[in-house]
Amino acid sequence: MPVTDARDTPAWENWGRTVASTPARRARPRDEAEVAAEVARAAQDGLRVRAVGSGHSFTAAAATDGLHLELDLLAGVEAVERRHDGTARVTVRAGTRLYHLHHLLAAHGLALTNLGDIDRQTIAGAISTGTHGTGVRFGGMASQVSGVRVVTPDGEVLTAGADDPPGSARRELFEVARLGLGSVGVLTAVTLETVPAFWLRARDEPWALARVLEDVDAFATSADHAELFWFPGTHRALTFRNDRLSADEAARWGTDQSGLKGRLRLLRQEARGLVDDELLSNGLFELVNRVATAAPGLTAGLNRFSARALPAREHVAPSHEVFSHKRRVRFREMEYAIPRAAVRDVVRELDVWLRRSSEAVPFPVELRFAAPDDVWLSTARDRETAYVAVHQYVRMSHRRWFDAAERILVAADGRPHWGKLHSRTAEDLAAHYPLQDVARVRAAVDPGGVFANGYVDTVLGAPGAPSRPSSSRSRSGSST
Ligand SMILES: Cc1cc2nc3c(=O)[nH]c(=O)nc-3n(C[C@H](O)[C@H](O)[C@H](O)COP(=O)(O)OP(=O)(O)OC[C@H]3O[C@@H](n4cnc5c(N)ncnc54)[C@H](O)[C@@H]3O)c2cc1C
Repeated sequence: MPVTDARDTPAWENWGRTVASTPARRARPRDEAEVAAEVARAAQDGLRVRAVGSGHSFTAAAATDGLHLELDLLAGVEAVERRHDGTARVTVRAGTRLYHLHHLLAAHGLALTNLGDIDRQTIAGAISTGTHGTGVRFGGMASQVSGVRVVTPDGEVLTAGADDPPGSARRELFEVARLGLGSVGVLTAVTLETVPAFWLRARDEPWALARVLEDVDAFATSADHAELFWFPGTHRALTFRNDRLSADEAARWGTDQSGLKGRLRLLRQEARGLVDDELLSNGLFELVNRVATAAPGLTAGLNRFSARALPAREHVAPSHEVFSHKRRVRFREMEYAIPRAAVRDVVRELDVWLRRSSEAVPFPVELRFAAPDDVWLSTARDRETAYVAVHQYVRMSHRRWFDAAERILVAADGRPHWGKLHSRTAEDLAAHYPLQDVARVRAAVDPGGVFANGYVDTVLGAPGAPSRPSSSRSRSGSST
């Protein structure tokens, strides 16, 4: 079994460089049986266990001083169960990266109905923190999960899903396993509700921020998937609105591209996409951020430049290509889910704080939307949701900006993204989630706290007596 000792390997660090930890042991199991054996051995040795995905959480969700399990060898599709309406239940191995998953699904003529804005995560990691995209009629990724296979502390493999009777132990395990920070075991497989592959028509346009704030609902519902970036200190919003095309519309668009003129148009679209994605959103944007780091006083001017850099464009492509972007400029992020009705006041308060403080923030504020869902730990649970995300370049301090934004977002009844920086605790979050039910499920499945870590105990509450205290350290100050 490919196992390494901590002495052979550097300490683990996440993508945002906010968290590092030194696991006592690391393993890369090749299959479910090896996962089960590793978990049982670690539990017997008194080690805590954490599966790590691609390390894209900004919080210490994936950190451990015990056994770190890397599941990248558990990848690929296990089963496809088709229905007459074209949808299908697809079971995939937990370590499958999203960029790989999209291609695997496309080969079956299938897709996930909604996605976040990058595709580097693993499917297990993405659902475990409540990763979401945008769209008032659509839920986050965990709401697309209908079954899980999970390894418990004694190495047993349990199957649980939406078909288990409500209130049963299996159904409750499913609820915490599909979105629960790995707190009830190691996911080895996930069953996804997929839809027939579809294309999106994307319209990217600068709008006056005031036009969005005047009627946030109108903006949110103006497309199937609407979102915006707003650069601090400016009055412009870069809006991104994607509409789902029917099979006929997509076919018509494909036919339009088949002649010489169409192919030239397609080439122009691809070249334009390359300039926007590679140069403006990554290469030039890195330069802008480096200048802001060296000369923070220039940030206001740089933001005016950034807000104008991406011109309007319209393009059509398979859904996962439109949803996913490349994010090579490294940053830190905090994101809160707030009631949609609170967006206007929150954005205005953020604007007032930024203008008063003159804080240098060369990264945009992002606004997205989601439908209410019934996933126990979903940030969109039971309410029409808007997501407000604030970012800061990795070389600049995020502390003051995030602290100020967090005060505003908490006052708006906000719920923090489980994978992004925040300072909330289980006590604060108990008003939003059924944490007692979560604690009951954790205590039943994992009475010894094998699947706990410092972050999980902070945000979900500490079940029983943990076998070892966590030594993972957060590098980002007050935010966990
Ligand atoms: C550049 C960037 C863009 C992002 N964009 C978005 C976005 O658009 N929308 C959004 O909502 N979020 C976004 N995020 C946040 C990101 O999607 C989440 O933090 C996600 O959890 C990361 O997935 P991962 O595979 O890296 O998991 P990790 O960060 O490695 O782990 C996350 C959690 O999952 C657990 N876990 C991982 N694998 C397993 C397993 N097999 N069994 C049990 N538990 C497991 C870990 O223990 C940990 O608790 C973004 C982050 C970055 C850095």
